[in-house]
Amino acid sequence: MPLMKSWVASANTADTSFPLNNLPYGVFSVGDNEPRCGVAIGDMILDMSRCEAAGLITLDADGAFDLPFWNDVIELGADVWAALRARLIELLSEGSAHEADVKEHLAPMADATMHMPFLVGEFTDFYAGKHHAMNVGTMFRGPENALPPNWLHIPIGYNGRASTVVVSGTDITRPNGQTKAPDADIPSFGPCKRLDIELEMGAIIGGTTQMGQPISVQEADDLIFGYVLLNDWSARDIQAWEYQPLGPFQAKAFATSISPWIVTKDALEPFRASTPAREKDLLLYLREPGPMLYDIDLEVTMAPAGKAASTIARTNYNLMYYSAAQQLTHHASSGCAMTAGDLIGSGTISGPEKSERGSLLELTWGGKEPMTLDTGETRSFIEDGDTMTLKGAAKGDGYQIGFGTCVGTIKPAVKFP
Ligand code: MN
Repeated sequence: MPLMKSWVASANTADTSFPLNNLPYGVFSVGDNEPRCGVAIGDMILDMSRCEAAGLITLDADGAFDLPFWNDVIELGADVWAALRARLIELLSEGSAHEADVKEHLAPMADATMHMPFLVGEFTDFYAGKHHAMNVGTMFRGPENALPPNWLHIPIGYNGRASTVVVSGTDITRPNGQTKAPDADIPSFGPCKRLDIELEMGAIIGGTTQMGQPISVQEADDLIFGYVLLNDWSARDIQAWEYQPLGPFQAKAFATSISPWIVTKDALEPFRASTPAREKDLLLYLREPGPMLYDIDLEVTMAPAGKAASTIARTNYNLMYYSAAQQLTHHASSGCAMTAGDLIGSGTISGPEKSERGSLLELTWGGKEPMTLDTGETRSFIEDGDTMTLKGAAKGDGYQIGFGTCVGTIKPAVKFP
């Protein structure tokens, strides 16, 4: 599919993240205005609440856009999502008869503050990147036992915390926690010393499943509304001490950041990609009927306080072993009910090369091989004042479907107790 032209000139460039092909959904405010739903187009935001008030957009649910979240739209289902996208394309296309009316409802993105784009129901995080699992497993258990015996059969996950999922730009306070040094007799409590990121994609669930009722992989794919960039901040020293036998707890519970724009599944449709070849046949309920990953280039940068950012990793979402649809199917397979607004983290996205690793744990091999940034600083893990940024874009012919950025700066730990 080529670039679709818009009368918003800034949407027609090869390097904008938000061409007409994209139309991602966010929540924004300008000045003292209440946060409300908006759609990104070039360097502008279309105020959906004003468009609805002006009769340019109508939905079954009145006032669904005059809210600080997209959940009311998400819950209306795939037919409404498709109709809304078609109407937005009609309003914003080059030559649209509605240009003069719609133009009044555009706000410059540079003037806007972005907020959480949806209310997160529940958050589950997976571990579906094979290169990541191999790297971490090799560090913790040696290369022979790197992959747990279940890994090639199950998309492994844990139930995370929705309460601390925050929008890009929110500062992250270094967590306190309990850790135990290998040579110590007893654990100690204090600020995390091995603070890390995890480069992930988040899938937003757009429908509800009934408790007790499993769903197929196709049904799961149909239920996904869209995707965001997701940083699953991780306290590696807290994790190492607490994770057995029930998995991560406080090491992950303190913060998860997401990018402010929900990129819809419809916008990503031309970029579908298959999961890699199976090393072991999956059980029937997990087999994909078609490509359900996406070709999305990803990048991580790190910037010490007051310094320029250095790119520390580049990878692609299409390297994951399991798709979000497979994860969702597995999640519902026991009869676990899923709800519109639930968020699923992909797991850390790493490639086979060292430059493709999506966490500092892997990039610095557990801190044994510190990185040197472009500005000369060295880092094993994240220090106070450092800013970590995730970026992502699906690259089309003469355009890209961008995700914006997912940014967080680390603030010092709270003194406690
Ligand atoms: Mn994770």
